[in-house]
Amino acid sequence: MLKAIMTDGECSLLRSLLEDTQTVVLCCHQHPDGDALGSMLAMAEVLRQKGKEPMMVVPDQYPDYLQWLPNTEKIVRYDKRKEYVDTVLKIADLVFCLDFNTASRTDEMAEALTASPARKVLIDHHPEPDIPTVLCLSHPEMSSTSELVFRVIWQLGLFEQLGKHFAVPLYCGMMTDTGAFTYNSSNPEIFYIISQLLTKHIDKDKIYRQVYHNYSVYRLRLVGHVLCNRLEVDERLHAAWFTITRQDLKDFHFIKGDAEGLVNMPLQIKGLKLSISLREDTDRDNLIWVSLRSVDDFPCNEMAARFFNGGGHLNASGGRLYCSMDEAVQTVRKALQAFADTLK
Ligand code: 5GP
Ligand code: MN
Repeated sequence: MLKAIMTDGECSLLRSLLEDTQTVVLCCHQHPDGDALGSMLAMAEVLRQKGKEPMMVVPDQYPDYLQWLPNTEKIVRYDKRKEYVDTVLKIADLVFCLDFNTASRTDEMAEALTASPARKVLIDHHPEPDIPTVLCLSHPEMSSTSELVFRVIWQLGLFEQLGKHFAVPLYCGMMTDTGAFTYNSSNPEIFYIISQLLTKHIDKDKIYRQVYHNYSVYRLRLVGHVLCNRLEVDERLHAAWFTITRQDLKDFHFIKGDAEGLVNMPLQIKGLKLSISLREDTDRDNLIWVSLRSVDDFPCNEMAARFFNGGGHLNASGGRLYCSMDEAVQTVRKALQAFADTLK
């Protein structure tokens, strides 16, 4: 059986919020990933089961390889329909914040989200939530927000009545946030949850293929190019980094999601502890997107906060730099020196 994650009081509060609210908005973080979309789509399915028509909002585009998830056509993009979403946020009586801990993670939407008079429920696994809520289910020890949504629904006794459109996005979210259950996934309860999701007749192998075997040939060639021509390895510090320039993005017909998982690859090198990716924005000058991945106890989130205007989890973090690529590489070198003792 699963460990309870809500008190009796939290359970009855959430139950009454699900029953008694009319205009419900669900949202997730900028650059939505499998877990952000999965937890949002699954939670929306719960509300639809209750006869509601919740609005699902993403701050910006989600990757092409998640398009197949059920009900993505109902998702509204804030960057495309700002005025409409602002209006709904003003009249909403309930907002679910899924897979983010602080309003700024919703980028341009942060202002309207913060100003919304709706009661807010946060379900998330990033540390240090700072959004005012009536219910804050923040569990950084969980593999994913999708795992948390499952546990919430399980504890409320609603799982029985839900079907495939609930189970598929949750499995997808748990899978993508754990690298297909290769990290952050040693809690046996995760496999109990998977066994329950499988009772809804999901095809987990197909979900895997739809996420990981769903790229264009350009993505494969981009990976080859980066690993061959752009990867730098510091053997002494057990760290690696690579750059992806705007020209690379153009040359390889880059679409959102094409760089996914690339930052994990250098960790395949024996003994490597840290991998950093620097990618120029497709449009804006002097904007570099940074991703960090580590193994064991190297704190990516501390490095991301100190050097890359970001944060995240111990082994997976992100951030951004407002400078040229050359300056970004210098920042990486400085960051590695500052953490040299932990890396050696
Ligand atoms: P990614 O490298 O996939 O963009 O991000 C890895 C992890 O770091 C994700 O869990 C993401 O939520 C988190 N993350 C990415 N960018 C930021 C950021 O700017 N601030 C914080 N706090 N977390 C971030
Ligand atoms: Mn997540």
